[in-house]
Amino acid sequence: MRKPTRRRSLLDRIKSFGKEWSLPRQLQGQSHVDKAAESSMSRSLRPRLEEADSVGTSICPYCAVGCSQLVYAKDGKVIHVEGDPRSPINQGTLCPKGAATFGLLTSPRRIDKVLYRRPGGTEWEVKPLDWAMDRIAFLTKRTRDESFVRRLPDGTLVNHTLALASLGGATLDNEENYAIKKLFSGGLGMVWIENQARV
Ligand code: SF4
Repeated sequence: MRKPTRRRSLLDRIKSFGKEWSLPRQLQGQSHVDKAAESSMSRSLRPRLEEADSVGTSICPYCAVGCSQLVYAKDGKVIHVEGDPRSPINQGTLCPKGAATFGLLTSPRRIDKVLYRRPGGTEWEVKPLDWAMDRIAFLTKRTRDESFVRRLPDGTLVNHTLALASLGGATLDNEENYAIKKLFSGGLGMVWIENQARV
């Protein structure tokens, strides 16, 4: 009695050996460094970029090197981030931190709302951004006015406050740091102005 299913399967296996295994493909003349080393699985893989319907540019958020990035999106959702080859700084590369930007953008644990914990409170409250900006401005002004020192007891003119401090991020550029220094030192009298890039 014939066993067609089993015989077909044996035939398939023989054909598959000829098509999928590296050695017979090399004997058929395929190069062992590309075609013969490629499995049917890797042949079926497609780059994520192929699905993108738009691409934008950005700057890596992690450090002061400021590597340029290309951000690919599909249907308004980011699907891939990679280095921009046009950048003279990173020339298309990203370090492991920068290469993880996609995870930073899309992580479900990423906080994308203003959270506020009131004095003495034990719970975080979600607040509008405008409310938070107004509150920061109000507290900054009040603290500065309450703590401003015009002259030291010996008469030295200082025009400063020691009750406020600023810690900037490493991705702040020259212009932003200039504006921070002008506003915080010249405008408010703050003396403690630091930046993560120097810590
Ligand atoms: S990719 Fe790396 S080196 Fe470049 S800005 Fe980001 S963290 Fe810095």
